[in-house]
Amino acid sequence: MNKPVRTRFAPSPTGLLHVGGIRTALFAWLYARQNNGQFILRFEDTDKAREKDGAREHLIQSLRSLGLQYDEGPDIGGPHAPYIQSERLEIYKQWAQRLIDSGRAYADPYSPEEVQAFRDQARAEKKPFLYRNHRPENPKAWDGSTPLRFKSDPKAYTWNDAVIGDVSTGPEVIDDFILIKSDGYPTYNFCHIVDDAEMEITHIFRGQEFIASVPNYLNLYEALGLQPPVMAHMPHIMAEGGKRKLSKRDGAKDVLDYIREGYLPEALRSFIATLGWNDGTEQEVFTTDELIAKFSLNRIGKSGALFDERRLNWVNGSFIRELSLDELYERSKSYLPKSAASFDEAYKKQVVGLAQERLKYFAELPELTDFFFEDLPVNPELMSGHKQLKKTEPQELKQLLESALETISESSFTVDDLTTRLNQLLEASGQKPAVLFSLIRIATTQAPNSPGLADTLAVLGRETTLRRIKSQLASF
Ligand code: GLU
Repeated sequence: MNKPVRTRFAPSPTGLLHVGGIRTALFAWLYARQNNGQFILRFEDTDKAREKDGAREHLIQSLRSLGLQYDEGPDIGGPHAPYIQSERLEIYKQWAQRLIDSGRAYADPYSPEEVQAFRDQARAEKKPFLYRNHRPENPKAWDGSTPLRFKSDPKAYTWNDAVIGDVSTGPEVIDDFILIKSDGYPTYNFCHIVDDAEMEITHIFRGQEFIASVPNYLNLYEALGLQPPVMAHMPHIMAEGGKRKLSKRDGAKDVLDYIREGYLPEALRSFIATLGWNDGTEQEVFTTDELIAKFSLNRIGKSGALFDERRLNWVNGSFIRELSLDELYERSKSYLPKSAASFDEAYKKQVVGLAQERLKYFAELPELTDFFFEDLPVNPELMSGHKQLKKTEPQELKQLLESALETISESSFTVDDLTTRLNQLLEASGQKPAVLFSLIRIATTQAPNSPGLADTLAVLGRETTLRRIKSQLASF
């Protein structure tokens, strides 16, 4: 019988988590959900120097905000608690002792300077440095004051990576690596293997930077008598341009920043999943149910995936347009400008509904909708900077706006009636729509863009529309 699928996300609490960083978690989560398995969160905090305050809470919040619920983890416990490596030191000692007892681990007798001298010597001789060439003959018993090293058994390996495919390496890549450092903390190389075994992890998802270490891990699995889990090493996420790995200086924001800016978790899940994975069709946007159903290890790309924030905006926009008006309003209302506070819900809902078409993320709402809630000062640059309007004499614009005022004041202010009257005016004036409608749009909104003109005026209502046209007229 197959073992139940158990995957894990094992971040080090060292700081922020960008969209690319959380992809590993998403893939591991999708795979677990697809197979009715479990998804586990584990903190790998054995490198105390790199740890950052607040990073653990940040990781938990990021997973929660993205809806990646874990079944076991540091804050919720589980059958293999604790899920924090620094609280598992006794467990690693026991496993280390097994290796010592079987003659597969030894106390490292060298000072860091001596090891460096070996390294320098190898470089001078143009040979790769291998610690095992200096393995001590009669190592002392390990007392914890020096590193504990693995006594490797160099050999060739061929194994299958679920993403990369078959990989073969020779014995020259196998070396005696450190299991436990002199500060008492285990290395990642050692403790992740112990934890994955104890926590019954069946599939490891992690970044491609770990692939080179796999032969050494396989050697250790063997020494411990363990069956290695399935491994899936993810391609790097590349910055725009595709030349280097995504980092903060490429504007890669923290996942929670995107959440704060009003990106939808379901859109982020779709976007992140398609960083390096596709379903073999042209489909670019997936509901989470579709992701769970369609995700497959063998459709994860081997080469780097490109991070493109414009694509994220497009994906998020398409999720926003799928929302019902009620849902959109509930999820976005906290982003409306402060000036919206005194307006009733029905009005605010209409405004949000009009913004839905062009909204990429909710934090754009104030910029897109402020004129619905307050009279903005007349901005002459909107006319002088407008391609069509700047070519028209001010006197002519004034006359046009005067006739617009008259026409609009006769309207019943339904969208249909406004549309009819505006079109009649257009015909009567002999003007281009880009002139007449832009003029009215600027006069009534003082914004460079707005939703459809008749829709906008209908929501603004008679009083506000006429007042604003009059203010604009007074400025000529
Ligand atoms: N702690 C490792 C990291 O943050 C995790 C690697 C793994 O998933 O095994 O890169």
